[in-house]
Amino acid sequence: MADWPYNTANWKRLRTAHLRAFPFCEGHKAMGSPYVIANTVDHRVPISEGGPAFPGHDGLASYCPACHSAKTARGTEAGAVRSGKPRRGCDAEGNPLDPSHHWKSLRADPVGPPPNLQNQLVSKGNCDG
Ligand SMILES: [Zn+2]
Repeated sequence: MADWPYNTANWKRLRTAHLRAFPFCEGHKAMGSPYVIANTVDHRVPISEGGPAFPGHDGLASYCPACHSAKTARGTEAGAVRSGKPRRGCDAEGNPLDPSHHWKSLRADPVGPPPNLQNQLVSKGNCDG
């Protein structure tokens, strides 16, 4: 079970609202793939470093599971995912996280949204209201 504040109704509401407002992964966005669906909301300033538990949207960041775990593995500092270090693993679509990975050259259009984006948004949106 998640610890405070993640087990509170306040956090769940804030998290849902943030993902609705910022549905795409910031880690991938920084690497040139702005349309990777996020499902994790992270504090820009960790609570353990004095950040507010329930900040506004500008105090929160949306990440996909891969970027969030990469960020967590590297430490709590904000923006760790934007470091230029090589990255292991892949995203939910099977694309390498490392922007310099040779598989990237197989992507048809690294800038535009995938054609099934709307389907993803509909099928993965969670409405708990
Ligand atoms: Zn990501």
